[in-house]
Amino acid sequence: MKKIVSLSIFLFTITVLYSQNTYILCGKLLDTKTGNVKTAQTIIVNGAKITNIMDGYVMPRSSVDKTIDLKDKFVLPGLIDMHVHIEQEFDAKTRLNRYILNEADVAFNSVGFAKTTLLKGFTTVRDLGGTGVNISIRKAIDAGKIPGPRVFTAGKSLATTGGHADPTNGSSRKLVGNPGPKEGVVNSVEDAKKAVRQRYKNGADCIKITATGGVLSVAKSGDNPQFTIEEVKAICNTAKDYGMHVAAHAHGDEGMQRAILGGVKTIEHGTYMSDTTMELMKKYDAYLVPTLTAGKEVEEKAKVKGYYPDIVVPKALAVGPQIQGTFAKAYKKGVGIAFGTDAGVFKHGNNAKEFGFMVEAGMPAIETIQSATITNAKILKMESEIGQIGKGFYADIIAVNEDPTVKENINTMENVVFVMKNGTVYKRK
Ligand SMILES: [Zn+2]
Repeated sequence: MKKIVSLSIFLFTITVLYSQNTYILCGKLLDTKTGNVKTAQTIIVNGAKITNIMDGYVMPRSSVDKTIDLKDKFVLPGLIDMHVHIEQEFDAKTRLNRYILNEADVAFNSVGFAKTTLLKGFTTVRDLGGTGVNISIRKAIDAGKIPGPRVFTAGKSLATTGGHADPTNGSSRKLVGNPGPKEGVVNSVEDAKKAVRQRYKNGADCIKITATGGVLSVAKSGDNPQFTIEEVKAICNTAKDYGMHVAAHAHGDEGMQRAILGGVKTIEHGTYMSDTTMELMKKYDAYLVPTLTAGKEVEEKAKVKGYYPDIVVPKALAVGPQIQGTFAKAYKKGVGIAFGTDAGVFKHGNNAKEFGFMVEAGMPAIETIQSATITNAKILKMESEIGQIGKGFYADIIAVNEDPTVKENINTMENVVFVMKNGTVYKRK
């Protein structure tokens, strides 16, 4: 018996000693916590985690280990986008999708979107609403069946009848039906609780509500409040019971205030946010997710005749130009900024354009990167696992050619040349 025990201890020791380590030689390495850039560093990765970071270029001693040479690159942690729709990519025909696509079609489309997102350096995303297929995508990615970012998903968004995420908005009376909490449509405090619990049952990680009207829904108002404060409170309190935070799509100020007072963690878009609401955001520790890239996209596409339904065009033309100015103001006022793009409203893979738009609005380049790493990791309650390159963190590591902390180089973020997620290399140019 004793012999067997000592033999297994021996074998265990051998496995630990000789399991393969990867030595990543980094020309420049960003510490997202301090904002400092160090030169000539070596990251050691074992399995899915970072086990050490050493000064200088350290070469492996064992022949089992391997080396990745990024000596002429700038290395930083994998990026986190707090607002994507991994199931869909908007185009002029998108409104037809719910009548012509089956779940399997949605799923196959998503496989490509997830891969594109990962290869652009986004190793984690928060998915803020689709049909619910996004939950299966997360499972497939986690199981290693398809490449993609780590996904936190809201499943299907919650709306009120006729609201921004009512799934049958704009349909003919024959098709409109009467969707309820199961489909994510709530009209009372009781409905609100049920809808949150249903999302939990379906496997969602967080909750998304459409606190105000939206640009792309087939409805007149893009900014009216769409939930009562009691409904928002019921959603947030129930979500809290299940360890989920709540994100609120909001363009108009009144709906935003109700959302913040009701307990949401992030305000998406924030287009018409007033000074008073900015102060409320700070007081309640809520974050603004700017989605500037989506603002630019809807403004541009609204000028293409027939691209959006007529009812959408004036909303898109009004919201587009406003969104970046509001972001600039909120940032200056000290509102917390959580990097997020609304990818899916524009082409997946263009997420990193957001960095340029944020810098253009006056946020220092380093802070835009910190927003897409440490801030978002904190909101996802993963601040000791992702968002930094540190001992014990997941080996989510990317590289670009230039130093993006220098303002003039920020567009280098759109050209990620190396991607590792959970210790696996997905891209190496
Ligand atoms: Zn969105």
